[in-house]
Amino acid sequence: MAAVEADIVIRNGLLITSESTVEADLAIRGEQIVAIGKDLRAPQEWDVRGCYVLPGGVDVHVHPQMPYNGEYTSDDWFSASRAAACGGTTTIIDFVEPAPDQPLIQALEERLSLVEKQAYVDFSFHMTLISAVPECLEQIPQVVARGIPSFKLYTTYVGFGLSDEELLKAFAAVRESGGLVLVHAENDAIIRWSQNRLVERKQLSVQHYPLSRPMEAEAEAVQRVLHLAHIAQVPLYLVHLTHEASVRAVERARQLGWQVFAETCPQYLLLDDSVFSANHYGGGVGFVCAPPLRPKGEQAKLWNDLARGVIHSIGSDHCAFNLKTQKSRGEEDFRRCPPGLPGLEPRLSLIHTFGVGRNKISLSRWVEICCTQPARIMGLYPRKGTLEPGSDADVVIFDPNWMVRLTQREAQPGDYRLHEAVDYTPYEGWEIQGWPKMVFLRGHLVVMEGQPIVSEAWGKFLPRSPFVG
Ligand SMILES: [Zn+2]
Repeated sequence: MAAVEADIVIRNGLLITSESTVEADLAIRGEQIVAIGKDLRAPQEWDVRGCYVLPGGVDVHVHPQMPYNGEYTSDDWFSASRAAACGGTTTIIDFVEPAPDQPLIQALEERLSLVEKQAYVDFSFHMTLISAVPECLEQIPQVVARGIPSFKLYTTYVGFGLSDEELLKAFAAVRESGGLVLVHAENDAIIRWSQNRLVERKQLSVQHYPLSRPMEAEAEAVQRVLHLAHIAQVPLYLVHLTHEASVRAVERARQLGWQVFAETCPQYLLLDDSVFSANHYGGGVGFVCAPPLRPKGEQAKLWNDLARGVIHSIGSDHCAFNLKTQKSRGEEDFRRCPPGLPGLEPRLSLIHTFGVGRNKISLSRWVEICCTQPARIMGLYPRKGTLEPGSDADVVIFDPNWMVRLTQREAQPGDYRLHEAVDYTPYEGWEIQGWPKMVFLRGHLVVMEGQPIVSEAWGKFLPRSPFVG
């Protein structure tokens, strides 16, 4: 074997990429992977026999330290990004939400200066567009030039929701700059009408929450947004799809050659709306997210779509609010419950346990949807999302036989206490098969035996290239 100069060699692991599963050594020099092969040597060697070696996870949908109605999510950027690392995710993409009339670049620079001192893993942003007036849209090229080629738009929510005409204008402007749009698709009128009906019937306790945002609201908006994006010829990434009708619409669009990608989240694969029945842990408020969890039966169909490759990416949509002081406000009136679930730390392991472990998806597919595809779609590949000479040495040593029980309470023997800064987890007490033992971020060992081992924020801002398809 030709000598490769390396600082670190990870030996005897099972290397898993979206393409292959192969027993090999992996060599790191500085911040990059420099070789994959047999019998590689270096001053620092780790024998990881029995473990998987994966590219660091890429979660392109997270909301750490997010402002919401005059308050914030329960976490800050440091704790959230450190939790991501503990779960094997080394790249996360957050959102910049400009204030009304604030220049987009100014909002971006503000968020960047807040985040870069606190980032435990590498990061980038999507720019949220809350307006489609010409003064706003003409700033898009500047944002793309700064390394942010993805734009988030909403079809609902006061202050965020855009009309069809505004969406078209914004889509066309993003398209001109070579960007991609992410859309939260739910029909605003259906939501308002459904909510008002529940108000009239005095059915506002959290048990009724799923009825306020029915599946049809999502399916209709997904279908409409697909057509709008097609007319504007802009590549589209649909965030958090929750059920079959939405995914079918994406599948048909792709059969027509339209450039569209579908994301779902662990919560829509693993939880159903029975958590809203009375007496469940957290009274249901801990499970309020938008779109809502769906009826039993939809989850199995989503798994099937994941296996078939119709869903391209798993984002956590991590958005953590404390149960006791924040989410509980919605018990008697779900409109007062801040929506969102924590979940960026267990994302990889949840999909491993319930996907790979239950024979629903292969090891390569697991890596593809949690690492490779998200990186590719967002312009980070092959720097991120794969194990190749030249890629960043973001490497996860994943022990598939490490059984952990997730908790946010005081840890008992066998428990894994999550690092997410929030007072609950939707997965309290769940038995998980497999967890990252070691995590390298650009060649730096940052997590050991599930615990963060450095106090510095080494994460770097990742400027991204325009979308190439
Ligand atoms: Zn989100």
